[in-house]
Amino acid sequence: MGYAQIDAFRGDANTIRVIGHRGARGILPENSMIGFNFALSIGIDLLEFDVLLTRDNVPVITHNHELNAAAIRGPDGKFLNGAGVRVAALSIDDIKGFDIGRLDGHTDYGRRFPEQAQIDGVRLPQLSELLQLVSQPQYQHVCLMVEMKSDPNAADEKAREKLVSVVANAIRQAGLTNRTLLHSFDWTLLAECKKQGIDMPTSFLTQSKHHADDIGDESALHIMPNLSTLSIPDEVKKAGGALWCPHFRDISKDQLLRAKDLGLCVAVWTVNEPDDIDAMIDLHVDAIVTDYPGRVQRQLSDRGWLWAR
Ligand code: MG
Repeated sequence: MGYAQIDAFRGDANTIRVIGHRGARGILPENSMIGFNFALSIGIDLLEFDVLLTRDNVPVITHNHELNAAAIRGPDGKFLNGAGVRVAALSIDDIKGFDIGRLDGHTDYGRRFPEQAQIDGVRLPQLSELLQLVSQPQYQHVCLMVEMKSDPNAADEKAREKLVSVVANAIRQAGLTNRTLLHSFDWTLLAECKKQGIDMPTSFLTQSKHHADDIGDESALHIMPNLSTLSIPDEVKKAGGALWCPHFRDISKDQLLRAKDLGLCVAVWTVNEPDDIDAMIDLHVDAIVTDYPGRVQRQLSDRGWLWAR
């Protein structure tokens, strides 16, 4: 039952692990190869990213089903600006015509990341590109938190079956099943992983409905189950999860301890501000998902903690 990759996400008495959110979104284009390469280059060996399928069923790495207009420019070099371009309507050739290297600072989303570098000619990556990168011998210790995004407009059984089987096949073909976690807000999708007998652990994302969504990110609230239960960790365990990934504002010490009692690994998302990072170190979670891996490293380091073994 034990999966080696879960141990890679688990902290210990001196260690809190750091997970690069969409690479290092605070300073480099999100979900880009340049961002993933950077995270790896600073010793971050756990990468989170988002996967969805093109019209021709190629898994690509991007967050929103409708391409993020504030972060993506079309073939004409202009930000998409309300164009409503859906990944599911594009072929992989179409996808390669977009540039994800800049943020539009005139948008609320763009204003969230004022330090992000502005680069031209950055393409939206296929899942296979990242799998190839981490297959290189120098990255053999790197593990992946693959977030599979169900389309709220088409989250039927067939769509879930397809997404799970295409993504799992790609990981299997790359020989990375023992270094990958399958991660989602859509618990039905994670159940589909079990149904297909996929030999990779699952990671259950949660977000309280009391908190607003992050500006500019597609909401996950309507794809999540209704968790009215008293103990979310118990629900995750019952659903066969190996890791619980709550929003950092939603977790209490009691819940963390309950999760640990159940043998779950606990990673919190997405922790960017220094006070919040400190609070999560105090709480002693297993791992911190962050857009600013360098900030978390620095705070861990100043307090005598490690992030890698
Ligand atoms: Mg994600």
